[in-house]
Amino acid sequence: MKNELRIYNSYKGKKETFKPIHEGQVGMYVCGPTVYSDVHLGNCRSFTSFDVIYRYLMYLGYKVRYVRNITDVGHLEGDADTGREDKISKKARLEQLEPMEVVQQYMNGFHDMMKVFNLLPPNIEPRATGHIPEQIEMVQTIIDNGLAYEKNGSVYFNTLKFAERDGVYGKLSGRKIDDLVAESRADLKNQSEKNHPSDFAIWIKAAPEHLMHWHSPWSEGFPGWHLECSVMSTKYLGETFDIHGGGTDLKFPHHENEVAQSYGACGCAPANYWIHGNMLLMNGRKMSKSDGNTIMPEELFSGGSSHISKGYSPMSVRFFMMQTHYRSTLDLTDGALQAAEKGYRRLMEGNKLLQGMQHPGNGNVGDLDKEINGLIDQAFADMSDDFNTPKALASIFELVTKVNSLKGGQLSFGEITVETLQRMQQTFTDFIFNIFGLLDEDIDVSGSGVVDELMALVLDMRQQARTDKNWGTSDKIRDALKAMNIQVKDGKDGATWSKE
Ligand SMILES: [Zn+2]
Repeated sequence: MKNELRIYNSYKGKKETFKPIHEGQVGMYVCGPTVYSDVHLGNCRSFTSFDVIYRYLMYLGYKVRYVRNITDVGHLEGDADTGREDKISKKARLEQLEPMEVVQQYMNGFHDMMKVFNLLPPNIEPRATGHIPEQIEMVQTIIDNGLAYEKNGSVYFNTLKFAERDGVYGKLSGRKIDDLVAESRADLKNQSEKNHPSDFAIWIKAAPEHLMHWHSPWSEGFPGWHLECSVMSTKYLGETFDIHGGGTDLKFPHHENEVAQSYGACGCAPANYWIHGNMLLMNGRKMSKSDGNTIMPEELFSGGSSHISKGYSPMSVRFFMMQTHYRSTLDLTDGALQAAEKGYRRLMEGNKLLQGMQHPGNGNVGDLDKEINGLIDQAFADMSDDFNTPKALASIFELVTKVNSLKGGQLSFGEITVETLQRMQQTFTDFIFNIFGLLDEDIDVSGSGVVDELMALVLDMRQQARTDKNWGTSDKIRDALKAMNIQVKDGKDGATWSKE
């Protein structure tokens, strides 16, 4: 059942068999949010992709240490390391808040949203401001190793020297030093301090109005954005660890520069496998505030946006994300969300039916039995092939069709064994709740299966009223349920319910 895991390694541009450094253990670092504004939906998609990866690694039996940082010194305005003011300082100045107030507010909001989407928290969530001494230490080490230089209180990484020495600068993003020179912007303020246009700051001297700054051997200043991830991943996972993840937009310059810093500090690669999640689009285009092609998670839930016809529940949206592979762009449209909402409900109802099934105990291994086991094997094989959630979902939906046919009597329990039914029940629980991380919104809204028990009670009372020919009461129950969008179906085994 458990296949060899294959991962598409962005650093090598190909799929590889996953072999952790320490058997049975995985160290995974994912670049976290910069907490200077509300978390946007693209981030939610990215972190949800890594949540599924984290969950599947644990499902495979690995002990995972998952580290996801909080960027709370802010990275700089404009081009990643060349502006003068960081985003958190700017926000704090505009809103007349302490920078740490800005950080706390948006960090709380970020955590709330991760809970709404049912993401598991990482094992360690280090903050950049809590690791300033370690960052200063790494800057010094890189200087000592001859790969960084100081100019007017700022320290720059020497990319040209690194490219000559190690030959890997640009390897992750597929860029060459020549391209980097052509791309660099001549109008940037501190460009003249650099030896070479592709050099990047690892320590920045703070301007007098800059709110967040620390003492260092070079100046009163703050670390370059890329440095924190090198420092915190090294501190909690070691110089070289298993998996480094992030959105594809972080490949350059952020991750490229992380690689450079790691080589600069310890002469080794930071991670053996790089995983990059693709972008979230809306109506086929990149989301962008400036042209109005954007939607906030809250608007998506409430329906308060002109881009959608109604609100969608968090689990419908999470299901929507599962329908596309993490390395493909995901296009958010109203139609796709409606389809996802239906799919999510069909899956949940199929699961409810399946979990309630009891085998009469006289099954044989027939074609149906083989087919069901084949679909289960296929779902796991697809997850183990670079976490292919859409393909795994397709097999699970074929199983939902079997479940509905078993319930409807078109297929017979005589064609499957007791073990196969149990395996199917376990597989649904594993996939839906443990791997895809979905919640049953009908149940979990109230806490723990209470709704199901209450509904069973209500349906019993309704049945009793009908038996007693107490039509007033049975009609009252029917109308009240209808008002709550709850549909009741009467079958030969009694009544069942579903939410419309
Ligand atoms: Zn990072």
